[in-house]
Amino acid sequence: MKTLLFASANKYKIDEINAVLAPLGYQVKGLHDLGITDDIPETGTTLDENAAIKASFLYQKFGQDCFADDTGLEVAVLNGAPGVYSARYAGAPKSDIKNMEKLLTSLQGETNRQAQFRTVFCLIEDGKHLFFEGKVAGAIATEPRGSAGFGYDPLFVPTGEKLSFAQMTVADKNKISHRARAVEALMAYLGKRN
Ligand code: IMP
Repeated sequence: MKTLLFASANKYKIDEINAVLAPLGYQVKGLHDLGITDDIPETGTTLDENAAIKASFLYQKFGQDCFADDTGLEVAVLNGAPGVYSARYAGAPKSDIKNMEKLLTSLQGETNRQAQFRTVFCLIEDGKHLFFEGKVAGAIATEPRGSAGFGYDPLFVPTGEKLSFAQMTVADKNKISHRARAVEALMAYLGKRN
């Protein structure tokens, strides 16, 4: 088994990624496994930069192959906002409800509700930075629908679907989600390396 360090403390994400990478011979270790309890500062202005900052933090500390992810919701008429600032769109402390309220207010009366979720992974392999991306296109609903998931899920209706992400099962969301597609791209690369 090769070890890959992952700059995330989110157990859900770590388990999900471990499940897909284990058959390829990789064991993923998250921040808690590495004894890191502090947040890694996300000071970048793009998803790529933030993913690279988080992966570099681990690489500098441990000198081992590692990766990090960053995700944003990009709304067309808001010029890609909230984008890299999705987690704290309505300010600190982070609140999914306040973020959704702010987004609905920003889009009040707007008919173009086109948006996409985008996830970027930065993998540092033998010191080299490699980037992988996953996207899902959709539209912002006029009110929250459903209670599953997290973040902006109740407002996001993927193109060609009737249900919001928060009305879907986790399995259905994972078939089409930005993160699943980015993991697939990372997996395809790592699979070829073996
Ligand atoms: P992170 O980079 O994965 O931490 O994502 C940043 C922010 O984007 C989160 O705090 C959420 O607000 C939003 N977000 C990321 N992924 C999703 C998702 O799958 N559904 C809804 N919101 C998401």
